[in-house]
Amino acid sequence: MELERFKELHTRFFGKELPEEVVQSEEYEAYADAIHEDETCYNWATAEKLKGKGFNYENYCCLMMADKVFQSLDEEGEIKYGDVDVVINKWDEGLYGIPIHDGGTSMVLINYCPWCGSKLEN
Ligand SMILES: [Zn+2]
Repeated sequence: MELERFKELHTRFFGKELPEEVVQSEEYEAYADAIHEDETCYNWATAEKLKGKGFNYENYCCLMMADKVFQSLDEEGEIKYGDVDVVINKWDEGLYGIPIHDGGTSMVLINYCPWCGSKLEN
């Protein structure tokens, strides 16, 4: 999908309570597919979301990483432990890890981004 077209649909659909007939529409379906399948659309929508939340996403290797780190933090910016939806943790020292959800705080340190493959700098 063209990014301009996607932006237009995003303005109409994002963050709104949509009636069932809209959710069922081909336009909406194309919009939802673009988020998952089109990297340009995904990156734009994710950057918009993180910008809106005041999250500094620009220092991350990719928007997938920025978004996953954002999802790993609570409202105070502290790491959420024990949340099974969290797939990555980032510490202030620049360390990244995959949390092991065994009720504790264990994790597997990683040196490369699982999404874009960049070496993670600390
Ligand atoms: Zn990355």
